[in-house]
Amino acid sequence: MKTFEKSIEAFKEAVDLMPGGVNSPVRAFKSVNIDPIFIDSGNGAIIKDIDGNEYIDYVLSWGPLILGHSHPEVVKAIQEQAVKGTSFGAPTLLENKLAELVIDRVPAVEMVRFVSSGTEATMAALRLARGYTKRDIILKFEGSYHGHGDSLLIKAGSGVATLGLPDSPGVPADIAKNTMTVPYNDIEAVKVVFEKFGEQIAAVIVEPVAGNMGVVPPKQGFLEGLRQITKENGSLLIFDEVMTGFRVGYNCAQGYYGVTPDLTCLGKVVGGGLPVGAYGGRRDIMEHVAPAGPVYQAGTLSGNPLAMTAGIETLSRLTPESYDYFTKLGDLLEAGIREAATKYNIPHTVNRAGSMIGLFLTNEEVVDFETAKTSDLSLFAEYYKLMAEEGIYLPPSQFEGLFISTAHTEEHINKTIQAFHTVFEKLAR
Ligand code: PMP
Repeated sequence: MKTFEKSIEAFKEAVDLMPGGVNSPVRAFKSVNIDPIFIDSGNGAIIKDIDGNEYIDYVLSWGPLILGHSHPEVVKAIQEQAVKGTSFGAPTLLENKLAELVIDRVPAVEMVRFVSSGTEATMAALRLARGYTKRDIILKFEGSYHGHGDSLLIKAGSGVATLGLPDSPGVPADIAKNTMTVPYNDIEAVKVVFEKFGEQIAAVIVEPVAGNMGVVPPKQGFLEGLRQITKENGSLLIFDEVMTGFRVGYNCAQGYYGVTPDLTCLGKVVGGGLPVGAYGGRRDIMEHVAPAGPVYQAGTLSGNPLAMTAGIETLSRLTPESYDYFTKLGDLLEAGIREAATKYNIPHTVNRAGSMIGLFLTNEEVVDFETAKTSDLSLFAEYYKLMAEEGIYLPPSQFEGLFISTAHTEEHINKTIQAFHTVFEKLAR
């Protein structure tokens, strides 16, 4: 049996210091009814907590660490840059380099602007879409999460869904009225909204694979339908690839599914574990951003040299073969989870897009937020604790996906499948 004494003690101190004891809500482990595990260090696919327990990590800082923890070459490059200077607030060659990598790899991006988080990227992309189209309404999907900007905290996923807070106090009604929501994967509902409001809709923002209600891939024709409807109505299509970017495929989800949006938001992997977000797209749209154009957006630490270095070192180490490797490990893990769940009669649906894997504890097909919510949340809490006991670190919420890194090996996956068997046997019905 693992002990968690030091984590429990640390959390007692933290709740006095920070709201809920954390700096981002899902880290509080509320939906799995345990105190959070405090992490000491990470190496490759393994993390160690402050009590000395080790885990195979499938959270990877919620996605960014696609090369695993403390990749030696990434760490070395960050150290070398730190010695040269951590921030100048003036242009550096590092920004050009990461911009070239992004433009080269993301089909829809002809120009890019770096920011410091995914939230900043989506907020700026919305402002740009509104400034460019001179329209106010945004269409988003129920259970999708696009960061905590006012316009986007409406029927949101991720921690908002985990904590059951569908709409946040503090978002003015005058702002919320410009955000419309329809179910994910429901192209007919999108058509209905466009029939009525088409001429007022600035943009549709979508996660090309939903990853904040658990993992929900797009149905065939969904992304294509959004592309067509937005085009016909003079609205912009924004792919929020903060999670899927450089994760679902070498050319992001847009390359994987062959649908090209007008604007793309990036975060997580693009910063390799340091704070980076980005938005980019068609040159004629991006040239509306200040100082090239009138739509204002700025940042003291935007394009930060340490963060750019981590991004460059991470993206340069990802090749098309990395994604073949993710597919191989993903296939293995997916089949293993299915087999274990079937053997012990555990309700399950496994959704998958490349190295994003979502296990829902329900037998219903999960295609949107409503079907995701059919999952057995109390069973999830039990399962979560038992998996942690077995040394498997998973996102502490039913509404988040699992990630794999290049540091994960077949041995890690096999150990994990073994843990699924042990845990499901205990939970057998
Ligand atoms: N968009 C998506 C699709 C995300 O998954 C997230 C974060 N999980 C965000 C935006 C917000 O990014 P950040 O937490 O870096 O602000």
